[in-house]
Amino acid sequence: SITCEVPEFQPLPKTHQAIGIDLGITDFAILSDGRKVDNQRFTAKMEQKLKREQRKLSRRYEQAKKDNRVLRDCMNYQKQRRKVARLREKVAFWREDFLHKLTTAFIRQYDVICVEDLNTKGMLKNHKLAKAISDVSWSSFVQKRMYKAKWYGRTIVKTNRFFPSSQLCHVCGHHDGKKALEIREWTCSSCHTTLDRDINASRNILAEGLRLFEATQP
Ligand SMILES: [Zn+2]
Repeated sequence: SITCEVPEFQPLPKTHQAIGIDLGITDFAILSDGRKVDNQRFTAKMEQKLKREQRKLSRRYEQAKKDNRVLRDCMNYQKQRRKVARLREKVAFWREDFLHKLTTAFIRQYDVICVEDLNTKGMLKNHKLAKAISDVSWSSFVQKRMYKAKWYGRTIVKTNRFFPSSQLCHVCGHHDGKKALEIREWTCSSCHTTLDRDINASRNILAEGLRLFEATQP
């Protein structure tokens, strides 16, 4: 083990900017200023390769069993096992790197960052979504922002889990009811604005987050 001195983090100068972030599936994050952060689809990219190598690994496993050999002595099997492990590690590193860069950029640019308090565990039970959500490593993302915000004197506001960010019209505030996940765009029945599902949601998250933030200010 090593001991090192950790520099004391200085709060960053105020930027007087706030942002609302909606985390998505197709895009990693959708920002209230309309920007979309591409979800690099870390594992998806490597998935094919990993699958192929894993199939190869199980073929070698079966072969060893058939030949009645001890796995420890099967060089081909062991070689392949290490290859699969390295591939998995690589994917994990990419993901970490991506998240670190992204969170640092957010923290530098904004004083107040508004996000949804997501019930990721609950969402993971929905299997269609599960793969995609764990792919974008949702909870790890939020966690990272939490400690970095503390370091640099930033505020992260979590809106309530039940705040209907995707059901409200961010222009007039009209509550337009639940929207199925496949509906990516809708028109407000009150003010007739055409709304991009995700951008609208992130704008609502920003407004709600700022409301909560201001309530805590003296
Ligand atoms: Zn409206």
